[in-house]
Amino acid sequence: ALTLAACGGGGAGDTDTSDSAAPGGDTGESYRIGVAMPTQTSERWIADGDAVQSQLEELGYEVDLQFGNDDINTQSQQIDQMITNGADLLIIAAIDGTALASQLQTAADNGIQVISYDRLIRDSANVDFYVTFDNYTVGVQQATSLLVGLGLLNEDGSEGDATGPFNIELFAGSPDDNNAGFFFNGAMSVLQPLIDDGTLVVTSGQTDFDTVAILRWQQETAQKRMEDLLTSTYSSGEEVDGVLSPYDGLSRGIITALSNAGYPDTISDGFPIVTGQDAEIASVKLIADDVQFSTIFKDTRKLAAQAVTAADAFLAGEEPEANDTETYENGVKVVPSYLLESDIVYAGNIQSLLVDSGYWTEAEVASGV
Ligand code: BGC
Repeated sequence: ALTLAACGGGGAGDTDTSDSAAPGGDTGESYRIGVAMPTQTSERWIADGDAVQSQLEELGYEVDLQFGNDDINTQSQQIDQMITNGADLLIIAAIDGTALASQLQTAADNGIQVISYDRLIRDSANVDFYVTFDNYTVGVQQATSLLVGLGLLNEDGSEGDATGPFNIELFAGSPDDNNAGFFFNGAMSVLQPLIDDGTLVVTSGQTDFDTVAILRWQQETAQKRMEDLLTSTYSSGEEVDGVLSPYDGLSRGIITALSNAGYPDTISDGFPIVTGQDAEIASVKLIADDVQFSTIFKDTRKLAAQAVTAADAFLAGEEPEANDTETYENGVKVVPSYLLESDIVYAGNIQSLLVDSGYWTEAEVASGV
């Protein structure tokens, strides 16, 4: 039910020249761009892949789009193959941000520039540019929405009526994804002071990133961890009030565990506050249905447009414009970055943020697919 690719998203995709073979220059031969996405199990990456592909094709580029099934070897082989097939530039959203150094070395040896897409590729000097969202702020937004759900804050940022203490549990993303630490640190910058003063209680005591991280962002792993927490920590009458979840897939696993444990059906009736990320349609429906409390909207059309603008600049022999040259140190160098902004989605702004912008239709929100 994805219709995102058609939306163009503004920016590079709008540069409509009459000669669509333009990027190849006078020869009429067009550049070939390899696009490596991590997985098709989460719809955001399908949307990213579609949007990057369609926007590049609009500019006359040839596109080799591959999805890595969340398997490191598969993605490495796909990138090797792109290089063998004559890619002129690579756009890569890594599965394991530390596993691509050898592919990137081959790319560099062949004069192929590399744009790291959404997730920073680490431990390699051969990353030329990074397009992403402000990942630390995403984490701040996730924690902020948790506080709003608990009634400690209002949506406008003013202090809420609730006082706590509230029982919460923390989840983080995949430890091999550089973003996961940014999300968690951003969230903890908001939560830690309230944990310290007793307003929030992490009942399990599990607050270390390594302990709460979910490898490969797997929904089943998150469900299992929530089930284990419910049995180990909440079996003698304590109740979960809120869960920090960094991604909608994990949120749905957590929600399943809580529902199976007998929590009420809706937030109004006492279901715990669960956060999220990506505005996946199944979660948007859960938000509309008063089950999941919030998610973070990252407009993949805009990220795609930024990647396409950067690719276009590189292939024209120019440097893409960065708006951050300090934050993203990848273990070898600071990678010049372009960061986009994200928004918190609550039930009340699904219409204005997601439907009015054409990201999802009203019918999709209603059906959840
Ligand atoms: C992305 C998130 C996404 C997560 C799981 C992260 O790298 O930035 O938007 O939720 O991967 O796919």
